[in-house]
Amino acid sequence: MSERNEAGAGRPVLLRGGTVLPMEGARTVLEDTDVLVTGDRIAEVGPGLRAPDDALVIDATGGIVMPGMIDTHRHMWQTALRGYGADWTLTQYFVWFYLEHGKLFRPQDVHAGNVLAAIEALDAGVTTVVDWSHGLRTVEHADAAVDALRSVPGRYVLAYGNIQQPPAEWTAAPEFRDFVRRRITGDDLLGFQLAFDVLGDPAFPERAAFEVARELGVAVTTHAGVWGATSDEGIRLMHEHGFMTPETIYVHAASLSADSYHRIAATGGSVSVSTESEQSAGQGYPPTWALRAHGIPVSLSMDTSVWWSGDLFSAMRATLGADRSREHLEAHANGDTVTHAGLRADQVVEWATRGGARALGRDDLGVVAAGRKADLVLIKNDRSPVSFPVLNPFGHVAFQAQRGDVHTVLVNGRVVKHEHELVGVDLAAARRQVEDTVAYLRAEMGEEAWRQGMNPDIPETKILDNPYTYTDYRSDATHRL
Ligand SMILES: [Zn+2]
Repeated sequence: MSERNEAGAGRPVLLRGGTVLPMEGARTVLEDTDVLVTGDRIAEVGPGLRAPDDALVIDATGGIVMPGMIDTHRHMWQTALRGYGADWTLTQYFVWFYLEHGKLFRPQDVHAGNVLAAIEALDAGVTTVVDWSHGLRTVEHADAAVDALRSVPGRYVLAYGNIQQPPAEWTAAPEFRDFVRRRITGDDLLGFQLAFDVLGDPAFPERAAFEVARELGVAVTTHAGVWGATSDEGIRLMHEHGFMTPETIYVHAASLSADSYHRIAATGGSVSVSTESEQSAGQGYPPTWALRAHGIPVSLSMDTSVWWSGDLFSAMRATLGADRSREHLEAHANGDTVTHAGLRADQVVEWATRGGARALGRDDLGVVAAGRKADLVLIKNDRSPVSFPVLNPFGHVAFQAQRGDVHTVLVNGRVVKHEHELVGVDLAAARRQVEDTVAYLRAEMGEEAWRQGMNPDIPETKILDNPYTYTDYRSDATHRL
């Protein structure tokens, strides 16, 4: 289909007749509206737009047009081990990656994970991903990470990290500085942050790394409020030394005190919430209910595909569920009833789009409006019984839609998915690379360690004593169990 092949070549694109969620203004929905894209920008949004002669016209009727979703925290290198840690807690994660096997990853393994994660993101309508890349134990690994991101036509922020060395050390290395000079060139499609955690040592050894970030003029992203790993102490140290800034992204922030939340709110930072991760791994209760109460901006993230797929539909759904669960639970503990839910569907859609853009300081993303960057998603699936009726578009996105419903995706004006098929992406090559990485890791670890790693011991479950006698009313017999 020549139409598809030409779609990336600067050709205008008209999304015709969709239900548009502009994410400007509360709960605004524009029905039967066109979106015209020229170059890398949205040129016009409105009804009945005239298509330029050479435009690719995409029928968006019955579908929802929204900004590309933004994931503010994903360890893309780990996607090579998709699903391996489904039954892990943070304990198994830390032992496996930080202490034992993370060191096995070669540059080509980081490359393999990143490529697959990047493709997966585009497929799911996630147009910007912060690659929280803490497996960069050499600069060769970092070059491989960037090469991978460059090879897949999405928008990325490389958050450079290295769990095998203290941040003060790797940020001071001349080869790290050289990497930044060589590879971080101010390209709009590749941003840069530093990624490290503040462990609470009163001597604040992370200071030097914060100073490097300040000197480079880049943001820091940090796992904060992770039960058993980072705590209020880290927040206090950052605050007292003047390193809590509006561009700082606090990941999880799930087990912090009100005092820490006040410090985050007062310094203008935002929190990246990975609800599915917090629910399974144990960082703390997914904190949106507390963040809302403290007026702290939120973005969403998937964390790692070692457990979950890189899909913000599931993030929105899980976040609504966790927030509402908590609200009901707190009310019931006081003998009260929640009659009106505090968190609404449009809010989680906002967090998945504009919230991420704000966290990254990108006012030109996360909004469908003239002049903004053309990172767009069309959700439409004519073969799906779940695609209609679309009565409440925000609710539809948050609770009904899923990655298979992503019909078309544009990044920077370029069509990267069309009619449910990725454009200009070599999935077979990505598969071969990941298969090589898996075979290598499995051989290095040995079969027993590989299997044990995937199957942590199951704690004994004690069935509680039951004061009632089992009764089967269908017969005369009664049995005591
Ligand atoms: Zn993380």
